[in-house]
Amino acid sequence: MPINESMVQDIVQAVVAKMQIADAPTGKHGIFKDMNDAIEAAKSAQKIVKVMSMDQREKIISCIRKKIHENAEILARMGVDETGMGNVGDKILKHHLVADKTPGTEDITTTAWSGDRGLTLIEMGPFGVIGAITPSTNPSETVICNTIGMLAGGNTVVFNPHPSAIKTSIYAINLLNEASLEAGGPDNICVTVEKPTLETSNIMMKHKDIHLIAATGGPGVVTAVLSSGKRGIGAGAGNPPAVVDETADIRKAAKDIVNGCTFDNNLPCIAEKEIVAVSSIADELMHYLLTENDCYLASKEEQDKLTSVVLAGGKLNRKCVGRDARTLLSMIGVDAPANIRCIVFEGPKEHPLITTELMMPILGMVRAKDFDDAVEQAVWLEHGNRHSAHIHSKNVDNITKYAKAIDTAILVKNGPSYSAIGFGGEGFCTFTIASRTGEGLTSASTFTKRRRCVMSDSLCIR
Ligand code: NAD
Repeated sequence: MPINESMVQDIVQAVVAKMQIADAPTGKHGIFKDMNDAIEAAKSAQKIVKVMSMDQREKIISCIRKKIHENAEILARMGVDETGMGNVGDKILKHHLVADKTPGTEDITTTAWSGDRGLTLIEMGPFGVIGAITPSTNPSETVICNTIGMLAGGNTVVFNPHPSAIKTSIYAINLLNEASLEAGGPDNICVTVEKPTLETSNIMMKHKDIHLIAATGGPGVVTAVLSSGKRGIGAGAGNPPAVVDETADIRKAAKDIVNGCTFDNNLPCIAEKEIVAVSSIADELMHYLLTENDCYLASKEEQDKLTSVVLAGGKLNRKCVGRDARTLLSMIGVDAPANIRCIVFEGPKEHPLITTELMMPILGMVRAKDFDDAVEQAVWLEHGNRHSAHIHSKNVDNITKYAKAIDTAILVKNGPSYSAIGFGGEGFCTFTIASRTGEGLTSASTFTKRRRCVMSDSLCIR
């Protein structure tokens, strides 16, 4: 194949990125060889954080936000370089989002009752040192998001990151501690070990000084944490269906669905993983997917080939997760045009590329005979994860029916999935959506204990 100008530019960009990553300062704040030493360091830091003013905590958080903006590109490049998943442009956006919209101390509020018998408050205090397990799909984003929220709540945090994203996680943890030190806070507000393993995770889960564990990842880790005997926040897997009914703006629905599905190559757990379309508009929707949204229609033979590569031996092939559509097509010998962003096809809900949480831009469309059938199929496809679901409809009754039936932590109506985490939508950002344990989108208040403070017969000055 002859090398053209755009290929040369891509090569130059990739080389420059590798040099930037190699030149990136590799500080060691918060990085330990031994998990017990890491926990001890986080415990000492928490003693300082605990007695800090809220204002001081907020100063550290402001410094974190600034540093993450400054390092957004390098973190994004590191994540893609290390894991081979996602794309740099979207990961840069995710880092700016997490820096801007993760709630800080303003999320810690007080409830008060005042009357003849005095004043009673509910104060939200820290747990202490929190254990956190983070995924490979949003490695630094989750580390940053968890640290801001946990610190705002007065905690420090011990991470056991995904081993395949450890360099990126270490880079983020070092930055977060540098931000704390620059703002006059302690070192080790967040810590980790150089080589996280299941063993270091077990040490963390069993440690006497860890009272709360937040697990962000697939079903295995959430089950492990919920079996630990400690309080667990379980942010598990999803398989979000996007339902489209006959009242929707079909053209816009096609655009929103593809934008959500292809964001960071479909890595976000909230991203559209399949479409369930009411039969009367299914052909129109497919028309817009193909003619206006850079989708590639996979033939039956190509679907079979994709299935054998993506789900080799029935197991999700990690080499396909977070890859872009053209790379996936090249794996089955298809040289797709440069504009292709997403692979689409129509199939039954049981199709392995539809029923499995793939985390790559492959979007199967299931046809439903009417709206009730669409709801039934979408609920089946969500597999009871209670994570995320999406709908394109202008019928409020339909939306309500779907929302009640699918019962997910997130339900986006008439927009791309990422609007659920504050990207082009209202509300705050999080990368830990506690689907299984029900806290929903986590923020600083999720990481606090509620304490009742009672002043008897005084301080009511009404
Ligand atoms: P993964 O489950 O392979 O790994 C997640 C983390 O758990 C890693 O740190 C891993 O080392 C650890 N882990 C796995 N099994 C463990 C066990 N038995 N004991 C202790 N630790 C264990 O997930 P991944 O591939 O990195 O991320 C993708 C998955 O995470 C998808 O299923 C996605 O939906 C989910 N996810 C959920 C959220 C959410 O907020 N709900 C956010 C991001 C990702």
